[in-house]
Amino acid sequence: MSQPITISLFIRKEQEGTYFTQPFHLPEGMESFTLTYRYPRSTGEKTGLPGGLFTNRQNVNTIDLGLIAPDGTQVGASGSDKNEITISAAWATPGYQPHEPVPGEWQILVGAYKVAPDGVNVEYEITFVPEKVRLLKGDLHTHTLASDGVHTVEELGWKAQRHGLDFVAITDHNQMVTSDALPRIHGVTFIPGIEWTHYMCHANFLGCAKPYDAPFATNSLEGTLERFQSARERGALVVINHPFEEVAKLSYDINSLPFDCLEVWNGPMRESNLKALKLWHSMLSAGKKVPITGGSDYHRDTPFIFLGGPTTCVYARSQSVKGILDALRQGHAYITFAPSGPSLGLTAGDAMLGDSVRWTEVKEMQVAVNGLLAGDVVKVVTASGGDVLLQAPADGSFEAAYTMLQPGFARVEVYRAFLPGLPMLPALISNPVYFDP
Ligand SMILES: [Zn+2]
Ligand SMILES: [Zn+2]
Repeated sequence: MSQPITISLFIRKEQEGTYFTQPFHLPEGMESFTLTYRYPRSTGEKTGLPGGLFTNRQNVNTIDLGLIAPDGTQVGASGSDKNEITISAAWATPGYQPHEPVPGEWQILVGAYKVAPDGVNVEYEITFVPEKVRLLKGDLHTHTLASDGVHTVEELGWKAQRHGLDFVAITDHNQMVTSDALPRIHGVTFIPGIEWTHYMCHANFLGCAKPYDAPFATNSLEGTLERFQSARERGALVVINHPFEEVAKLSYDINSLPFDCLEVWNGPMRESNLKALKLWHSMLSAGKKVPITGGSDYHRDTPFIFLGGPTTCVYARSQSVKGILDALRQGHAYITFAPSGPSLGLTAGDAMLGDSVRWTEVKEMQVAVNGLLAGDVVKVVTASGGDVLLQAPADGSFEAAYTMLQPGFARVEVYRAFLPGLPMLPALISNPVYFDP
């Protein structure tokens, strides 16, 4: 289904100076596609001269390129400047707009600017990258010059790329940002967001340019609920941020708010994060299914704060904003202290972390951790406590099976001694697999 499409198009001299379209069918389930085309641009006329041969090169063919989406919108046009363009929801070759690779009939816009007397044959090829689950790393909580950060969005994007991050959410205090205002950096998906910043609660609304119409401020729980509900109705992922952060703690009862994820790891690991982990664990133990996120709350570099500290790692079907947010919503994610932190695979039958299985059908969970350092401790945590699976004897990788003796949840934590003499701290926290009764 993802075989390349090739189209051979013959353009006659009489078509010179006109535009027309050449359709092609984009199959379903693609993350991106690349269109290339080639044709003989010039012919050489050889002239015998005393002492040699002179070739007179002339551009006799100039065929322009553009692209039209199934709904008729112009995705872009590049004249004869580019012979290869790539389109995805997150990124497109400059001159083209990022566009969801929707299945259906797309049109190559052909501009026959110059055509040789005998006509010209143009070869088009369209190749696809299908959607496929892969691990992506990113930071879900950052501030820029638009609030109290010191970098522009673009600077954050380049920083993210240098740190090995695949996505970064822009979450300025009470500042909405539209996708159009976000730069395009190949390999980095910008997630538009806002940190709804209020005396009673901080919450990230991710993936929506305008989560609510009213001003951010309200003095009632009802007003807060209105903004949260509006954000969710408009497709935003709602994350309750740093519930125990001293100057910005959650003052509402968490159970009174509609939300999708809980930020249990905000910036460097410290007391407030350990409290958030405890709150989350108690919610899981009470039978709730709450996906977690992490974010650096990056404003500027300090000795303990850096972009991607912590990093949220998601198993996403695509690198589009939707692909990443869907994965977060499903709990297909774990958090590491940095982009270079350990990585985790957690499955149970066909399910992965964040998913639910029936305990009567699946009891065993497969744990695979890479990037461990000597001394790291790998734990499986359930409602009844933590089981140490491994104290790493050396740097390396680890695989094990863990059997659930009763229904419940099981998640993984990796602990590391970051500084000699100080207690071990989490290096990785995962969402659970839920074993339903
Ligand atoms: Zn905050
Ligand atoms: Zn913040």
